[in-house]
Amino acid sequence: MAELTRDKAFFAFRADIEPAVRVAQGEEVRLTTHDCFSGQLKTTADTLATLDWSITNPATGPVYIDGTKPGDILRVNLLEVKAHGPSVMVAVPNVGALGDYITKEETVILEHRDGQVVFKDKVVVDQKPMLGVIGVAPADGSVPNSTPGPHGGNMDCTLITTGARLYLTVGVEGAFFGCGDMHAVMGDGEVVICGAETPGEVRVRFQTVDVPGLPTPFVENEDIVAVIASAETSDEAYKQALGMMHGFLTDVAGMPVNDAALLMSIVGNLKFCQVVDPLITVRFEFPKRVLADYGFSLPE
Ligand code: CA
Ligand code: ZN
Repeated sequence: MAELTRDKAFFAFRADIEPAVRVAQGEEVRLTTHDCFSGQLKTTADTLATLDWSITNPATGPVYIDGTKPGDILRVNLLEVKAHGPSVMVAVPNVGALGDYITKEETVILEHRDGQVVFKDKVVVDQKPMLGVIGVAPADGSVPNSTPGPHGGNMDCTLITTGARLYLTVGVEGAFFGCGDMHAVMGDGEVVICGAETPGEVRVRFQTVDVPGLPTPFVENEDIVAVIASAETSDEAYKQALGMMHGFLTDVAGMPVNDAALLMSIVGNLKFCQVVDPLITVRFEFPKRVLADYGFSLPE
């Protein structure tokens, strides 16, 4: 098993940096990750005013994956996403989707206890650890880790958790994969600007798969498949997600055009991932059992 520690971090998805580790397809890789502040907020007295912004949103990596080339579809099998804790959150005036209502900055530390996080000794919430930032280098140039896009990045999608499989299109030879920004728990929308931001560890396995035309980023778990789309406005993002899912159902899964549209309208779900990053991210979810009714399944 390959190991990679959180001190091997990068801040933009790009291919012109040295890979931190080289792995084979099918090999299990264990990574540890920083929280999105690189651990800078340790107590309630630490605020964004003293933050070194140049080391926010670190992703552990890059991981060079042997035998991957531009245009390949890379499946990232999330064997385990585990939060180490404690988690930190911030509420900041004029920041995030609720910034208009916040008049006083506050940093909150949430202790982790038996698979739960504790909010101000008052509210106990079950953990559902997920990765906010996960992606590969784009074909050209670089994308800061704060920004989501076709390469993945800061999608803040709650489906990206233990047991999920994420599909990304490889932009460059070796893929240059990285992940971080773990949340012990987060609600869809991430409205205040953060989830329960935590350091953690991830076990993953990579495999290129042959699914011609698969729209990416694409994610599946035991019950559903989903496409993820990011754009400057939520209108643009949802239209993009609808087009991606309808295209998948018809061109890849072979469903008739109207069947796909009608079924998207009764058993599909359009959801927000996050509304607080440089772009808005939404997803469209569709049940796998309906794909099975049409004789389609993703490769094992
Ligand atoms: Ca994030
Ligand atoms: Zn985060």
